[in-house]
Formats: sequence, C-alpha cells, structure tokens
Amino acid sequence: MRVYGIWSGNQNGVLEETDKCIEAVFGSFLYTHQYTRKRGHGRDGLYCKQHARKHQEREDYAKETKS
Ligand SMILES: [Zn+2]
Repeated sequence: MRVYGIWSGNQNGVLEETDKCIEAVFGSFLYTHQYTRKRGHGRDGLYCKQHARKHQEREDYAKETKS
C-alpha cells in the first residue's frame, strides 16, 4: 500500500485510497498527497484519465527513443 504526505509534521503519512488515482501531487506546503480523482485508466487501471494520458505519452516517447 502506498503512503502519501510524509513530512516532518506527519511521519506516518496518509495511506493510499484504493479507489483514487495513484499520482502524487504537491500540496500547499510542498509535501505530496494523493490525487483526488477516481482511478480506472492507464496501466492496471491505477490512474485517472488525465494522468493515464500523461504516462502513456511518456512511455511512447521512451519506446521511440530506444529503437
Ligand atoms: Zn491522476
């Protein structure tokens, strides 16, 4: 299980919410928290639509540069 938002004031962080996109985003104090959109897209359905597209583009780019 992923943990988000670990910082000096909250060393246990925040546990992953299993129905939400796994992308970690920066919040107001420069610590990360889990993205709030529902997952269901991308690899293993772990991302929201927006991040699925973002990661897909990165993978396509990696494939192109390797060959
Ligand atoms: Zn997302």
